[in-house]
Amino acid sequence: MPDMDRLRLSGDALCLDLANTVDPREAEPRVDHLTEAAAIADWGERAGALGAADADRVRAAIAADPDAAAAALARLRDLREAIHRTFRAIAVGAAPAADDLEQVRERWADGVAAARLAAGEDGAGYGLVPREPGAPDRIAWAAAASALELLGSGRLDRVHRCAADDGCGWLFFDRSRSGNRRWCSMDTCGARAKMRAHYRRQRRRAADGYSTP
Ligand SMILES: [Zn+2]
Repeated sequence: MPDMDRLRLSGDALCLDLANTVDPREAEPRVDHLTEAAAIADWGERAGALGAADADRVRAAIAADPDAAAAALARLRDLREAIHRTFRAIAVGAAPAADDLEQVRERWADGVAAARLAAGEDGAGYGLVPREPGAPDRIAWAAAASALELLGSGRLDRVHRCAADDGCGWLFFDRSRSGNRRWCSMDTCGARAKMRAHYRRQRRRAADGYSTP
């Protein structure tokens, strides 16, 4: 299984971080971080959808019922692809597919149906809490709720696809003040793009007959 601790989180929204669990998105070879049921809890904790105690509850439920956990993993992976297609379409100025939006709504509705309304621990008021805190599907419910929130945020102009031309394809929500974020991460795609631009300039100078340092 790929190392979850090394998975970058640069979506700046839970639903986009879920879409980015395939790395890269539009080139080969590809690493998929959600191929085993145990990864549901590991990713949920890593992405901040679960606290440590709830992640352990989900791990226990996965170990206790592998068949149910495998079905939850399949639902999470299907939702991931629906979310990826939806926000990739939005990022390139196209309309999302109705089937994909319907899948987001279905997983969100599942989560509402399996929840109770309770006071949050942070004192911020009342919210939906899964009746079964160890339910493996709760990660998908949280990601669907995140997608619904983003779809209705009025900020879809801030949803972008990484500008790297090597097939990264990761999606992110640009929270920068300037609104001109271009890459999923300055440490990876941004740094590579800058390096390539630098070499292009060097080659151009060399071709023009100038010596390069
Ligand atoms: Zn990228």
